[in-house]
Amino acid sequence: MKNFTLEKDADGIALITWDMPGKSMNVIDATMMDEFDALIDNVAGDDSIKGAVITSGKKAFGAGADLTMLQNIMGEYAAQKAKDEQAAAQTLFDGAYRLNQTLRRLEAGDKPWVAALNGMALGGCLEIALACHARVSTDDEKATYGLPEVKVGLLPGGGGTQRIARLVNPQDGMQMLLQGKAHPPKKAKQLGFITEIVPAAEVVETAKQMIRDGLKAEAPWDQKGFKAPINVWSPAGVQMLSAGNAILRKETYANYPNALNIMKCVYEGLLLPFDTALKVESRYFAHTLTTPEAKAMIRSLFVNMQELNKGARRPDVAKQELKKVGVIGAGFMGAGIAYVTAKAGLEVVLLDRDKEAAEKGKAYSEGLLDKAISRKRSTPEKKEALLNLITATDDYAALEGCDLVVEAVFEDKGIKKAVTESTEAVISDTAIFASNTSTIPITELAQASSRAKNFVGIHFFSPVDRMMLVEIIMGEETGDEALAMAIDYVLAIKKTPIVVNDSRGFYVNRCVMRYMNEAWNMLADGVPAPMVENAAKMVGMPVGPLTLNDEVAIDLSQKVIKQTIADLGQGAVDPRHVSLVNTLVDDHGRLGKKAGKGFFDYPEKPGKKKLWPELKNLFPQLDPDTIDVGDLKDRYLYTIAMEAARTVEEQVVTDIREADVGAILGFGFAPYTGGPLSFIDEIGLAAFKSRAEELAKEYGDHFAPIDLIKDMAAKGDTFYGRFGFGEDQAAA
Ligand code: NAD
Repeated sequence: MKNFTLEKDADGIALITWDMPGKSMNVIDATMMDEFDALIDNVAGDDSIKGAVITSGKKAFGAGADLTMLQNIMGEYAAQKAKDEQAAAQTLFDGAYRLNQTLRRLEAGDKPWVAALNGMALGGCLEIALACHARVSTDDEKATYGLPEVKVGLLPGGGGTQRIARLVNPQDGMQMLLQGKAHPPKKAKQLGFITEIVPAAEVVETAKQMIRDGLKAEAPWDQKGFKAPINVWSPAGVQMLSAGNAILRKETYANYPNALNIMKCVYEGLLLPFDTALKVESRYFAHTLTTPEAKAMIRSLFVNMQELNKGARRPDVAKQELKKVGVIGAGFMGAGIAYVTAKAGLEVVLLDRDKEAAEKGKAYSEGLLDKAISRKRSTPEKKEALLNLITATDDYAALEGCDLVVEAVFEDKGIKKAVTESTEAVISDTAIFASNTSTIPITELAQASSRAKNFVGIHFFSPVDRMMLVEIIMGEETGDEALAMAIDYVLAIKKTPIVVNDSRGFYVNRCVMRYMNEAWNMLADGVPAPMVENAAKMVGMPVGPLTLNDEVAIDLSQKVIKQTIADLGQGAVDPRHVSLVNTLVDDHGRLGKKAGKGFFDYPEKPGKKKLWPELKNLFPQLDPDTIDVGDLKDRYLYTIAMEAARTVEEQVVTDIREADVGAILGFGFAPYTGGPLSFIDEIGLAAFKSRAEELAKEYGDHFAPIDLIKDMAAKGDTFYGRFGFGEDQAAA
């Protein structure tokens, strides 16, 4: 066997150690499954074995199923379906049912199995442990246990929906299943799905002792009189499941078939004998695998994201040292950048115009750490260590020895030029200088540099500590070393990098602007503001456009409009947008959330934000009954998707994985679509083009298909087919 070893001790207890060669993590794949099946037979058939302990030879127990294996199953299904639909469905079900069958043989056999969890167990790997008759966990609170399948469009298909629903109270159980929430050992034990917690070194021995002490080889649900934590027919059960369904619909607008299927698995499963319940789960799992949402989410949120997080775009140049990072401008962004940099263990020099401003920026980290300590997510020692890494200063000499400097000073070309020159006077010739500008072309800023090849854009999103995306912008002269350093840095601070070419608004903000502009168009058309906001939520945008605009600040939108007019002329901006934004900002001081008023009013807590009632008096209102909500929903997705396609046409985005991942991580583009280009591919280019033409006729030229879309539609191409990376062929 490649993946497992089995050692029998003097008491007849088999210690099975799972340690996949050449991988940093154990995952469930086809070869592992074959070997695991054989091991279960081996334990069952060998009379000298009394019971088995399964543990891992790696730091963690395991990360889950190899999703590329699932992609292959989905690809085979799609190919076979064209020839013989029924046979394809059966093959798919058999594939989906396999893990359940394997684990049920383990669970229903007559020898006890204990999982000795020496670290994290997620997804299918936790499901293996759940099928064992007991679970011993390390006391290391960094070990987490959870079922994150929901986040990639799937559901736990190895009995997870059934065993969690029978072990854990309904509220926490549903959160684990529907939000993919993972728990550290103590909480997991409290919830009832970890049996015992001991120091890491004692995990295996404690598991063995349980078997010596006569652990029963019988799952609770196989014992007479077993009662699940919730009875579906009881008043509490009815209330929980009907309210749960309502909450799910409120939160997801039924955009996620996998989440609905999880609810169905729990509801139907709890009404059925356990073996039938597992079959039901496998049926829903198989159905989930056939949905476009699962295909798109696995590809974008797992495969593509993993590749980008491994540095897929890093040029092949030697790694430069990255130990000391300078951050210039200790304001809103700079303070956040300093925090995430120090959190990664890097030394930070945080520089502002005076010492006081620099210290204020450093205090931001202190505030975040105090909050984390109060939530038990950090300790005073860690706080001290992190703060010790940040030097707050107003002296450029302190930047000497920095490998990378990121400027986040005011959005002003003159100031940025002066900062670039002062910095280059003290840093080495090979150090990299990055700008966090959101609007000024990198090529233009690089003119202030005496070594433009070392000049790059590193564009963060706010709030820096929470947003997982960073956009790296290549100026015309940016060199490979600068790009490699920028990618190494972004990966070091555990964020996902995308690499784009210079363009007004780069990639993400171009798409975000389309989103907000469409909301402005709707307001100007007379669509009532609640419909403007809700249609976006209905189509799967986590943050409505008016909320987003308030958060970004409406005066910032005004500045962008003014700059666009200055650079491109009056015709470049819709006069209705100018009037709307000027009315809000100039006439009413409604600058957004920071001012307590924007499109919404923000009363003191516990008051809730409410749309500003006067919005309805700004434009003549349409009768809501005459408005087609389907059009509103499409308008959002189509305008953003068309812009994303345009960035590909203009070669601002050169890697389509980045367009999809960037839109989801950058502003939450309806994640179930897999991103704007996956959205177009799923609809089909011809259908996308013709719907866009309809929208253009009705709502404006900005929907008109661009040449690239027309060309692809004529040739029957898809984005992943034409510009893809091979993985699409498996998932197509
Ligand atoms: P901010 O006004 O909060 O902070 C700017 C800081 O720069 C201030 O502390 C200021 O004292 C300092 N500063 C100004 N001139 C300086 C100089 N000559 N030397 C040293 N320090 C100087 O602004 P912000 O929102 O943090 O934005 C900073 C940059 O980040 C801008 O280029 C902006 O476009 C970009 N950006 C902002 C956001 C956002 O959401 N706010 C997002 C992405 C990028």
